[in-house]
Amino acid sequence: CVAVCPTGALTEVDQTAHVVRALSDPDKTVIVQTAPAVRAALGEEFGLEPGTLVTGKMVSALRRLGFDYVFDTDFGADLTIMEEGTEMLNRLSRFLEGDESVKLPILTSCCPAWVKFFEHQFPQLKDIPSTARSPQQMFGSIAKTYFAEKMGVERDNLIVVSIMPCVAKKYECGRDEFKVDGNPDVDYAITTRELANLIKLANISFDRLPNEDFDMPLGESTGAAVIFGTTGGVIEAAVRTAYELYTKKPLPKLDFHELRGMDGIRQATIDFAGFPLKIGIAHGLGNARRLLEKIESGESEFHAIEIMSCPGGCIGGGGQPYHHGNAEILKKRQMALYQEDSNKKIRKSHENPFIIQLYEEFLEKPMSEKAHHLLHTKYFDRT
Ligand code: SF4
Repeated sequence: CVAVCPTGALTEVDQTAHVVRALSDPDKTVIVQTAPAVRAALGEEFGLEPGTLVTGKMVSALRRLGFDYVFDTDFGADLTIMEEGTEMLNRLSRFLEGDESVKLPILTSCCPAWVKFFEHQFPQLKDIPSTARSPQQMFGSIAKTYFAEKMGVERDNLIVVSIMPCVAKKYECGRDEFKVDGNPDVDYAITTRELANLIKLANISFDRLPNEDFDMPLGESTGAAVIFGTTGGVIEAAVRTAYELYTKKPLPKLDFHELRGMDGIRQATIDFAGFPLKIGIAHGLGNARRLLEKIESGESEFHAIEIMSCPGGCIGGGGQPYHHGNAEILKKRQMALYQEDSNKKIRKSHENPFIIQLYEEFLEKPMSEKAHHLLHTKYFDRT
């Protein structure tokens, strides 16, 4: 089935048949990762109220569909914060030391529709976004190296499936830079709506499912990762980690209400122990364009900017249950993610024990040579 992407940039190709084929192949180990915004909207496809969190039922359904391991893209989001937060601090420190070659503001890079937008429309700014890969791609890269080694599975026999709120994620996992000898880090991406169809086709009674937990180690995540699914969440997660790494002190508060909300362009200044970190946030590509034009003209005062293409961020993604422009539905999904963040025992990415273990056993440290190779990327002029 082919449908039009609400971001206006891409077409949607349903890869569900490929996933079903992989699940029925006894030679393949098939693992699945679920993006943060999916759990806040999937229930709507089964008649539940918008904003009903269905994390446990979603995990349960995926296990019944036959996935060998049910993991969480939130693990990839915590990893993204480790890399992107470190990159942000590096650039900031060099800037404060007077290095005029430093490019600021740093722009977030986890939204593939946004990446494609600036590669086409603002290629002259392609050195400004963070080089950190998106959580989907970091997860895939770690799954096909670290996890595959741990499990003794050949790369070709490990299939990574993503459940995404997003149509552009299908395109992202097909980009050449995310393949090794033609084998992609993420094999297939299906949307929230496509997952709902698959659950219905399999005759699974979603409302009767028990709540189950993700598998470990790639299923562990923090509250910071959960809020990646809403506008403002990526930068709030980055601030929680960057503040503690920069000041070497614990954060006095974890909730940054000044970064939250639904206005298309927002700004806030966060006190980094005496240094005023100026942050911009935009969702929707028209709003992004306005911020980029200010960067080009030298009027931008921001040190860091978060940009997401869809209204509300991934909660309003093109692969989510249709919300027909109803802002109340988006707000309820957003509140669900903030609630899941508050419920989490660990709420800062750098405190995720399996992320700490991953660096100790495999990656060494953020921005190490290995981390650079597996978790970072580059951008292209596509005009
Ligand atoms: Fe995909 Fe939209 Fe999220 Fe961007 S904001 S990653 S296009 S769902």
